[in-house]
Amino acid sequence: LYPLQSSKRCAVIGGSGFLGRHLVEKLLDKGYTVSVFDIRQSYELPGVTFHQGDLCDKQALLTALQGVSLVFHCASPAPASDDKALFQRVNIQGTQAVLQACTEAGVQKVVLTSSASVVFEGTDIKDGREDLPYAKKPIDYYTQTKIEQEKLVLKACDKEKGLLTVAIRPHGIFGPRDPQLVPILVDTARRGKMKFIIGDGSNLVDFTFVDNVVHGLILAAESLRPESPICGKAYHITNDEPVRF
Ligand code: NAD
Repeated sequence: LYPLQSSKRCAVIGGSGFLGRHLVEKLLDKGYTVSVFDIRQSYELPGVTFHQGDLCDKQALLTALQGVSLVFHCASPAPASDDKALFQRVNIQGTQAVLQACTEAGVQKVVLTSSASVVFEGTDIKDGREDLPYAKKPIDYYTQTKIEQEKLVLKACDKEKGLLTVAIRPHGIFGPRDPQLVPILVDTARRGKMKFIIGDGSNLVDFTFVDNVVHGLILAAESLRPESPICGKAYHITNDEPVRF
C-alpha cells in the first residue's frame, strides 16, 4: 500500500526545538532517515529534510509524512507563553490534525511527548506511578491542554486500523542548548530572587536529562508493536534521583 514506507523512516514534529533536535541527532546516529516538521527551521544537518509549516495545517503535514512509518510529536507552544488560544489551537486542534494526517498518510506509530505535570494537583507526589489519575485542577492552562492532547493520542491507538500510539511524560528537561529551564533559574538567581526556601528545604523536584528523554522516546517507538503492552499507554520518564530544590 505504501511502497516507499520503511520502518527506519520517521518524522519529528517540533524537531527544531530543544528536545526535538536532540532526538533528531540520536535518530540519525541510529540509522533513521529523518524529516523535521516545524514552524521554524533552527539548524541544518546532513540527512535531515526540513518541512516548514504549522502542525494545525493537515495538508502541510501530509506532504511531510509521505512514506513515514513513525512520527514523534514534540511540538508545543512554550509553557511561559501564557496564550490560552494558542495552547488550545496547537495542543488540541493541532494534535487532532496530526492524528488525522498520520491516519491518512498510513503512519503506523505515533510517540507523543506529554508531561509529568498531567498528574500534578499541587500536592506532593513521591514515587508517582502512571496509574495516578489526570489532574482535575491542572496547575495551568498549558497543562490542561497537555492532558487533552495525551488523551487524544492514547485514544487514537487502534490495532485494527494499524495505528499504534504511546506517550512519554518527562518533567523538567535539562541539557545542552536548553533554552528555558536552567537559563531561567540562573537569571532569577542573578536577579536575587532565589533567596527563599518554600518549606523546610526537603522538597524534591524531578528533572530529566535530555538524553534520557530521547532514550525513552526511542525505546517506546521501537517497543511499539501490536502485541506490546505499551500500546495506548503513558510512561513517566525520569532520572534515577530527583533534585533537591
Ligand atoms: P521547544 O519550545 O524547544 O520546542 C518546541 C518546538 O515546537 C519548537 O521548535 C516550535 O517551533 C515547535 N512548534 C510550536 N508550535 C508549532 C506549530 N504550531 N507547528 C509546528 N511546530 C510548532 O520545547 P521543548 O522543551 O523541546 O519541548 C518539547 C516537548 O516536550 C513539548 O511537547 C513539551 O510540552 C514537552 N515537555 C517539555 C519539558 C521541558 O522541560 N522542556 C517538560 C515536559 C514536557
